[in-house]
This record gives sequence, C-alpha cells and structure tokens, in this order.
Amino acid sequence: MIITKKKAAQDILKRLKGKKTVHLFGCGSCAEQCRTGGERELVEMAAMLRDNGYEVTGSSLLDETCYNQLVRKEYRTNPAAGRADAVVVLACGAGVKTVASNADETQPILPALDTTFLAVVESQGRFFEGCSLCGECVLDSTGGICPHTECPKGLLNGPCGGVANGMCEVNTENECAWVRIYSRLKKQGRLALLMEYSPPKDHSAGIRPRKLCLR
Ligand code: SF4
Ligand code: SF4
Repeated sequence: MIITKKKAAQDILKRLKGKKTVHLFGCGSCAEQCRTGGERELVEMAAMLRDNGYEVTGSSLLDETCYNQLVRKEYRTNPAAGRADAVVVLACGAGVKTVASNADETQPILPALDTTFLAVVESQGRFFEGCSLCGECVLDSTGGICPHTECPKGLLNGPCGGVANGMCEVNTENECAWVRIYSRLKKQGRLALLMEYSPPKDHSAGIRPRKLCLR
C-alpha cells in the first residue's frame, strides 16, 4: 500500500498557470484508500479548479493508475484526456509517471499528491510504515521488526545511546525499535543474533531506477 498526501492547492495552481482546460486522473486503489485520489477527491479537485477559472474536461478514476494498460486504454477511449491543456493526477508518483508515459509529450502531467511511504494497513484508515524498500532485507535477524524503517536513525546495530526507559529519544512516544527487537528475539530464544554485526547497506544494490521483468 503506497501512502500519499495532498499537495496544497496553490502549488497545483502555480503549475497550471497559462492553461485553460484540465483533465483529472484518480486512482481507485491506494490513493482511494488514503482518501487522496478517489471519487470524492476528484469531485473536490474539479470544484477547486473551476473556482479558479479552469474548465475541467473530465475525470478518469482507474482501478490502478500505475497500470500502464489501463492508462493507455483510457487515453485511447476517452478523447477528453488527450484534449486537455494539462492533466492533474491524484495518485502516487508511479501513477503520475504512467500517465506521463502515455500522454502526448506536449501535455503537462502534474502530481496533485506527494508520495510518502510504503505501509502496512493495520485496519481501514490506519497505515504504518513497514518497509523502506532497501533491497537487502534483514528481518530474518531482527524478529520481523525493521530497524532501517522503524528506528528514526535507521540503525542496523542498535540501540543508540539515547534510548531511555525503553523509549525512543527521537520519537518519544514510540518504544525503541531495538528494544522491541530484543524482546522479540528473546521470546524466540534467538538473542545470539544480536551479537552478529550488521554491515552497512550496500546502496549499489539499489541503483535506480529499479526494475523487475518476468518476461
Ligand atoms: S530490511 Fe527493512 S527496509 Fe529493507 S527490505 Fe527488509 S523490511 Fe524493507
Ligand atoms: S532510541 Fe532506539 S529507535 Fe530511537 S533512534 Fe535510538 S536506536 Fe533508534
């Protein structure tokens, strides 16, 4: 689940300067669940643009805006999308990129959202960062708790000297990630793992852009 948050209206309007017509894309998957890019947010965005003098040519709420075939089909079958002076996308960055890849290169494609993190969905409307996509998972030796993600300092060998009464010195309302790792490994009888040194992440393993092609 990719978490997004809304950009300020003035930031979107700034990029639309000089344009008259705008088409909207939403995303019926992650962004809808985050309440940033579903039906209601498309209606709100259209109203905001109209209030500021823009003509909204229409809106496309796709099941997944990061799915190239869906976006391609929308451009083929909905002429309003290609006709607009600009497109505003209410989806994560991958959705914006997918729309940009299918649009005519002369058509500006603008993000309405900021993409923030990859989340665990605890329950509807409650999302917690679960993984930083580092490409070298260490959860086998940390009791399923990611120090790279859940420790604000990203310490792979912890805890730091700031832990106080089991709490984190940075996010003072959170229990220290390394205290939780210790507790979990203790229950599993695997405390010896804490004596193993974790080397720094090999950032060359994650040279961007990353890709996975299964055929
Ligand atoms: S170590 Fe943490 S950030 Fe890296 S893949 Fe595993 S859960 Fe994700
Ligand atoms: S107290 Fe624990 S979670 Fe907080 S920064 Fe230090 S090691 Fe990381």
